[in-house]
Amino acid sequence: MRTPPFNLHLPTTVSEAVQISAELRAEGRETDWVAGGTDLLPNYKWHLNAKSDVISLARIEEMTTVSMTEIGAMARLSEIADGGKVHPLIAEAAKKVASSLIRNSATLGGNICLDTRCFWFNQGEDWRASIDWCLKCDCGTGADCRVIPNQNELCVATYQADLAPNLMVLDATIHLAGPDGERSLPICDFFKLDGITRNVLREGEMVVKVNLPDDVGQWRGEYQKLRLRESWDFPEAGVAAAWRLGSDGSLAELKIATTALESIPRLHDQEVAPVIAAGWSGEESITAVAKAIQLTVKPVNNTAFPPNYRKKMTRVMCERALGQLRDY
Ligand SMILES: Cc1cc2nc3c(=O)[nH]c(=O)nc-3n(C[C@H](O)[C@H](O)[C@H](O)COP(=O)(O)OP(=O)(O)OC[C@H]3O[C@@H](n4cnc5c(N)ncnc54)[C@H](O)[C@@H]3O)c2cc1C
Ligand code: SF4
Repeated sequence: MRTPPFNLHLPTTVSEAVQISAELRAEGRETDWVAGGTDLLPNYKWHLNAKSDVISLARIEEMTTVSMTEIGAMARLSEIADGGKVHPLIAEAAKKVASSLIRNSATLGGNICLDTRCFWFNQGEDWRASIDWCLKCDCGTGADCRVIPNQNELCVATYQADLAPNLMVLDATIHLAGPDGERSLPICDFFKLDGITRNVLREGEMVVKVNLPDDVGQWRGEYQKLRLRESWDFPEAGVAAAWRLGSDGSLAELKIATTALESIPRLHDQEVAPVIAAGWSGEESITAVAKAIQLTVKPVNNTAFPPNYRKKMTRVMCERALGQLRDY
């Protein structure tokens, strides 16, 4: 299958990129951003919602920062995974994305904005035509969702990127730039429970960078990932945990987030807070938090592993991620 032709634009600054996007949209043309292209281009090859114009961010130097408190959207995952420059939890998560070859091109921004996935959608055009399409790429047919039919409104494709839950537990802020100027928000508020729109980006808006708090070095953490093949597969479930100890050595704060279990990555403050409020007691608390999170997550049947297995493994991975807190 051939990649459909598109016009490629190569701005060198954020403001130029936003301007090009605004001008193209004013002419009625549809655009996509491309960063490393490791997800967008395979999707184009399969004729999945390809646009007439693609704006590459590859030449924008100002988006390539990599430090403990700031990572540009165009920072390559290979540089992030190298460690040393970023928080160890972020490096560990980046190291678990795809393969080393893909990480050389893949970027932080592309990972955060990764399209949601579903086995009824991530297929070639002929295959999708044979099932009469689905809501996410209906080719004008008004096709229904194949996973939750008879609702024809919501796509429940799965968000299967690794970095977001780790940025969430470290309290990252995401910075956006678009035709209406710049804005910043907690990364937890960036995602939208809709497999088609995915996040709160407005037309022509892009992710510029993420910032982490100045005290991020005081947080420790762990990321657990379930996947089909360890060599390069997308997460089937992922659990990120980060914690900070108080001056007396006791557990002061704990955050847990999951990925690959619904259309967004999710922070589980509501499940963690009651256990912390009751007083942390090692193994017992770990079991209570892990069970509470297992009960909350509701994966659907659209990835490689069955939903019940992913749900059970969420508890197991939660217990593993909190293993270092057994003695607190
Ligand atoms: C075989 C294989 C295995 C993979 N395994 C994993 C895995 O284990 N874990 C994982 O997380 N991912 C995996 N991926 C997906 C992908 O490679 C990574 O998520 C990668 O980080 C995407 O980054 P990119 O720069 O290549 O994104 P691109 O493909 O360039 O873009 C991805 C999406 O983000 C949008 N986008 C990119 N940058 C911006 C920006 N700055 N602002 C707004 N929108 C933007 C694009 O428009 C597009 O919709 C895998 C891919 C392949 C092919
Ligand atoms: S969840 Fe439904 S609408 Fe979304 S990609 Fe899958 S089948 Fe299509």
